[in-house]
Amino acid sequence: MAVITVFMITSFAEKSPVFSGKNNAISEDQAKNLNNSGNNSIPPPVKPAPEPKPESESSVEPENVTKPDPPDAKPETPTETESQGETESKPVPDPTDKSELENAVIPVKKPDPKPPVPVHPQVQEDRKKFVALTFDDGPDGKYTSAVMDILDEYKVKGTFFVVGQQAIKFPEVIQRMKNEGHSIGNHTFSHVNMPKQSIEEMKEQITKTDEAIKDATGETPTLFRAPYGSANAQVKETVSQMSKTLVPWSVDTRDWAGTSVAGMMGHLKKEISPGGIVLMHSFGGKNGDLNNTLQALPLIIEYLQNNGYTLVTTEVLLAAKG
Ligand SMILES: [Zn+2]
Repeated sequence: MAVITVFMITSFAEKSPVFSGKNNAISEDQAKNLNNSGNNSIPPPVKPAPEPKPESESSVEPENVTKPDPPDAKPETPTETESQGETESKPVPDPTDKSELENAVIPVKKPDPKPPVPVHPQVQEDRKKFVALTFDDGPDGKYTSAVMDILDEYKVKGTFFVVGQQAIKFPEVIQRMKNEGHSIGNHTFSHVNMPKQSIEEMKEQITKTDEAIKDATGETPTLFRAPYGSANAQVKETVSQMSKTLVPWSVDTRDWAGTSVAGMMGHLKKEISPGGIVLMHSFGGKNGDLNNTLQALPLIIEYLQNNGYTLVTTEVLLAAKG
């Protein structure tokens, strides 16, 4: 339990690889597009920047290009914390009974200063297995529905972080998300780089998107994901003030960069862990092409299910982690 909780805390804190600049390649790549569109007007949501290095379809892209840091310590060392209390307990001789020292040692029990937090074993087990699939930048008139078709085929619920200006264009796609039980999160109105906005602009981006989603579904989203995973202290504070939960990701399939299916699977297998949040897209992508995402998605779902994971919405995953 402690291990999982620690993992989530770090996911949302400054240590998070998502927000610490570890994935700056993503932000900067896509931020170039953003800057081309100007700050005050409403730019198109995602226009992929030209990639200097075309990716081979047959090879897994090199991990080191975007992840120069070695993987952070994985939060999968339950034995450390669990055994800590026991190893510290040692026999304490009873000074009042010197004649029977051996007998006195046994009944003396060292009091446990920190009683363990009670967690139902089943809940703990479930937490270990949860993974959320997330799809950013939609809705659109093509890929978002195709993604939902695949999710429906596997009876899996996903999470869509939608861009407000797209939500206005495709309200029926948003309505389908709701009708089929997917989570819908706020991903700004025009896919802006949040740290570059004033507080007023940030609030406007979030509010206008909330309105677009509410117009389509009748509900206001509680989840927020920052475009490019770019969030500083001011962004976090503003998002929190607006009663939203900032949602990072722990697995970047890099589908936005035109990554091959094999490459996406490679990222998934390397980075997935219990409580993981997988980043994919349902609009945008390299040259507007997300066909690899559609091809990889069934394989991703099957891989996760075959490895004992339960696919849930982000809301369910976060609720289970408490
Ligand atoms: Zn995005």
